Amino acid sequence: MSKLKEKSLSTQVQRICCPNCGCSAAERYFLPEYRIIRTQCGTCDYLMVMGEGGKVIEAYAPGQDS
Ligand SMILES: [Zn+2]
Repeated sequence: MSKLKEKSLSTQVQRICCPNCGCSAAERYFLPEYRIIRTQCGTCDYLMVMGEGGKVIEAYAPGQDS
């Protein structure tokens, strides 16, 4: 039987303060497999996906009316 090599690249989650609505319910996901950082907030649906060097791949910030 061969041993399965444990995956060293794992997703890390960090709780942060949402830059859009200001609450602390946002989460930042580090995805080393894809070399991206994904920030999302469940309260206001804020979404930000950053690639290498802080390049913004996708961003969505709701509730910016008025
Ligand atoms: Zn938010």
